[in-house]
Amino acid sequence: MNGYAGSILRVNLTDKTVSKEPLDPEVAEKFLGGRGLGAYILYSEVPKGADPLGSQNKLIASSGPLSGLLVPSASKMDWTCKSPLTGGYASANVGGMQTAELKYAGYDSIVVEGASETPVYLYIDDDDVEVRDATPYWGQGCITVERALKEELGQGFQIATIGPAGENLVKYACIAHDFGRRAGRGGVGTVMGAKKLKAIAVRGTKGIPVADSREFHRKALEMYRAIKANELLEGWVRFGTAATNAWANEVGTFPTRNFQSGAIEGYEALSAQVQLDTLFIRNKACFACPMPCGKYGYSRKHGVYVEGPEYETAALLGGNVGLLDMEDLAYANHLCDELGLDTISTGNAIGFAAECFEKGIIGTQETDCIDIRWGDAAAIFAMIEKIANREGIGDILAEGVRHAATQFGGDSGNFAMQIKGMEISGYESRGGATMLLSYMTCDVGGHHNRSWGITYDVQVGGSTISADKAAKVIELQHKRPLFDALGACRFPWVEIGFDLDQYAPILKAATGVDRTTEDLLRVSERIWNLTRLYWFREIEGFGRRWDLPPARTWRDPVSSGPTAGKRISRADVETLLDMYYEQRGWDENGFPTAAKLAQLGLTELAGR
Ligand code: SF4
Repeated sequence: MNGYAGSILRVNLTDKTVSKEPLDPEVAEKFLGGRGLGAYILYSEVPKGADPLGSQNKLIASSGPLSGLLVPSASKMDWTCKSPLTGGYASANVGGMQTAELKYAGYDSIVVEGASETPVYLYIDDDDVEVRDATPYWGQGCITVERALKEELGQGFQIATIGPAGENLVKYACIAHDFGRRAGRGGVGTVMGAKKLKAIAVRGTKGIPVADSREFHRKALEMYRAIKANELLEGWVRFGTAATNAWANEVGTFPTRNFQSGAIEGYEALSAQVQLDTLFIRNKACFACPMPCGKYGYSRKHGVYVEGPEYETAALLGGNVGLLDMEDLAYANHLCDELGLDTISTGNAIGFAAECFEKGIIGTQETDCIDIRWGDAAAIFAMIEKIANREGIGDILAEGVRHAATQFGGDSGNFAMQIKGMEISGYESRGGATMLLSYMTCDVGGHHNRSWGITYDVQVGGSTISADKAAKVIELQHKRPLFDALGACRFPWVEIGFDLDQYAPILKAATGVDRTTEDLLRVSERIWNLTRLYWFREIEGFGRRWDLPPARTWRDPVSSGPTAGKRISRADVETLLDMYYEQRGWDENGFPTAAKLAQLGLTELAGR
């Protein structure tokens, strides 16, 4: 199959069997690859009601049809499973080098089934696939294990691994790769831990066939040259995502002290320039990327290397916990990377505990004698370790803030900052209805990467409640996740305005299938509706109320900063949902109508 490796690798960890099967061309056409392929396999194969931590759940790692090809930033791997954090659909993507290596080994996707009783890792060297003992690595950190496996197997292997957090089934454990990149959200690393799968090591030496190599090469060069000539490139490469740190404060969306405010005094200490001056060693890029956003650095104060901190980490482990020291932030980042924790959920959980402590809902008897106060670096470091190791209060926070609120009591559920059980990422959204609706309707829970609506709020004004905001969210929810199905990074399009219409022609040259951008966006809409169906199938009573944000949204005005005093009323929240459902072709409970399912060719699948 042109553009694809053409095979799916199945590994059953219960009986340690390995099999290969051809990728179904019809599935590839309907769902492309990456997150589309993952969602299809999850929906089709994981039985209804499967325990996310049980052997029936599957962990699916998928490349896309552009992954591993000479296409700018074609580096993304999607990890899909049933989420132990939310009970619904989980999909997390990661850059680096492994997705290309997987295709060179001959596989578009790895489907990990069953569960091992003892620690194992998966060894893939082209056609040579083995389930190997990982006992010596169990208990070790992600960076340590990645380095050790490369030393043992060879530097040419690309490694994905979990840390102690995944082993201990922390509900938001991540899968780490390339010394600082993570598939972070929804507990994909937790599922890997439940399967006792410590790592996946891949090396590949094969090629990927393309339909029209001459046209492919011409188009690829055109795309690279256009990116290299882009006037926004220099600023992006200089600062990466950390450029957002100051901007978010200036527009009042930087999560501050558990989302009480949208700006923190002294935020300049977390600026991209301070990061460069304090930590920076060199730029770091994913596969085939001409616009490297990775900032590899070193903290002299703590003696650790770190990639980042990225914006989301600065937001949640900086502003949201009141930490305003770049080197302390780098160390918190390093701890999460090594222990295998999602920095977004971790910072959110610690911020939640700190607000509960501030309000007297919990005291030192609940916090293992730690004063969890804003900006107390030692307390924050201790909390990170407690969460990863499930010690004391960490055992509660390891379940996520939705669960923690049921344990801490009081009115803490009103400010447990989660949607569908997933901790909200780095944008305080009472000043921005588009961003709020993005979180409410995101298909994995309170996550920003499907629709980054905040820039639209800044452009048109955040407070208005209008149908164009629902339309913008839907547009973004089709465009942004399309990249996760193609297996490419969205940043060229998002950050430097690279034309979305560039992708259909090179996909045609790769696969031989002639599709327009609109055709591809229809695939993205199909995937979106399939994942919505999955939530309804897996969670009894799922529907409209699951799309609601925390009560803080309408109860508490933003405490300070440019959006001070803002809140969005419960009535306006419901109006946003009405407008969104109607434009999506969903009923008033958020279920896709029969007409919409038929239009997307999902009727048969929906019946399973
Ligand atoms: Fe990786 Fe950043 Fe390049 Fe995207 S822009 S491929 S995240 S280095």
